[in-house]
Amino acid sequence: MTKPLPKRASVIIIGGGIQGLSVAFNLIEKGERDILVLDAGYWQGGASGRNGTLIRPGFASLAWTELFVLTVNEWKTWSKRLGENVMFTQRGYSVVSEQEKSEAMLLEGLKVQKRLGVNSRMLTRREIDDMLPAINKSRVRAVQHQPDGGVAPHHAVMKALFSFCERNGADIRYRTRITGVERTGERVSGVWVGDELVQAGCIVSCAGPNNPDIAAMASVGINGFGMRIEAMALEPTRPLIKPAIALIDSLAYFHQTSRGEVVGGTEVPERPRMSLQVDFPVMANMAKVYLEMFPQLGEVRILRHWAGQLHASSDYAPLLGEHPAVRDLWFSAGWSYGFAGAPAAGKLIAEGIIKGHIDHRMKPFALDRFEKTGPIVEGGIVLA
Ligand SMILES: Cc1cc2nc3c(=O)[nH]c(=O)nc-3n(C[C@H](O)[C@H](O)[C@H](O)COP(=O)(O)OP(=O)(O)OC[C@H]3O[C@@H](n4cnc5c(N)ncnc54)[C@H](O)[C@@H]3O)c2cc1C
Repeated sequence: MTKPLPKRASVIIIGGGIQGLSVAFNLIEKGERDILVLDAGYWQGGASGRNGTLIRPGFASLAWTELFVLTVNEWKTWSKRLGENVMFTQRGYSVVSEQEKSEAMLLEGLKVQKRLGVNSRMLTRREIDDMLPAINKSRVRAVQHQPDGGVAPHHAVMKALFSFCERNGADIRYRTRITGVERTGERVSGVWVGDELVQAGCIVSCAGPNNPDIAAMASVGINGFGMRIEAMALEPTRPLIKPAIALIDSLAYFHQTSRGEVVGGTEVPERPRMSLQVDFPVMANMAKVYLEMFPQLGEVRILRHWAGQLHASSDYAPLLGEHPAVRDLWFSAGWSYGFAGAPAAGKLIAEGIIKGHIDHRMKPFALDRFEKTGPIVEGGIVLA
């Protein structure tokens, strides 16, 4: 028999993907135990179980790089703090440019990264030969290499987060959809699950593509739109690609897993078709880009191909913090790099809720930046 929902929780988190569970984990570490996580779907059913798992500290803008330096530092501590190996492997992350404009962006980004102490550099031709022997060098203009970047398999990460939160008293329910948000004057005071009201001291929306729906339930708006992206895994092959790779001009990203599968995707400018169905033309585009850059991949077949859904903001940067128009409703939303970014977001949002402290690394990502400071300009992301 399903356990009845509690009547109240100090913090209700909407969405049990990596963002929601990271917020719960960080709140628990700060002493909050009365946490209810409600998720409409199944464990790992959202984008957190469908992504490329690539993680890197360096981008082109100060705002993104500061946030992602923090996130990589947090990733390094997660296995110990969670008491389970999240298998974060710092095998390096190479951003490959094929055009003059993107090379200039990588060089500018390198200056920002150096200022923040990121251990990145442009590779020499000889280093490209050594590190990326299988790459089609005739297409490569420049490579920015970030040795501290890498990958972490989502099943290990999600399992460690889920177990830690459950062991420490968080009540996590999948297959439980929020259908309404209760407002009391200027603040939110609970959520509706069908005809049941659960009162809350504070609500954190980590509902992926449904973040705008949650905002609407509280009678407020949030920037952004739903977006579908696709990825695929190839048959295992001998080690061909050591670091994680982003092809900034071909809008592609991938890495080779320890089992030998090449996993990743390419971005195509098609939105907002929200479904989990895959498209043959998208798969064909991925295959084309992979083959142009790594011709030896022509010898392996496609093993799996899938889609996932995101909430993207109009500058593709995350939306972090309390909603400016209603108190006690927080968001970790707008995520396109939300697997990599979850450790930083969880930490900063938990600090905001518990201590009322808004860290300088979270401020640029405020929900009202479009009206106040303007969009964040970031040229180093792989998004159409
Ligand atoms: C193909 C693909 C490749 C990607 N590659 C990378 C990558 O390499 N690196 C990277 O950093 N990021 C990557 N991403 C992005 C990353 O996966 C997401 O940004 C991240 O998983 C977002 O986490 P989340 O917890 O916000 O969302 P999700 O994991 O989608 O979780 C949201 C949850 O909210 C629940 N929910 C929605 N509505 C409701 C409701 N009304 N009531 C209750 N629950 C609700 C859903 O059931 C879902 O479980 C990729 C994404 C895709 C799809």
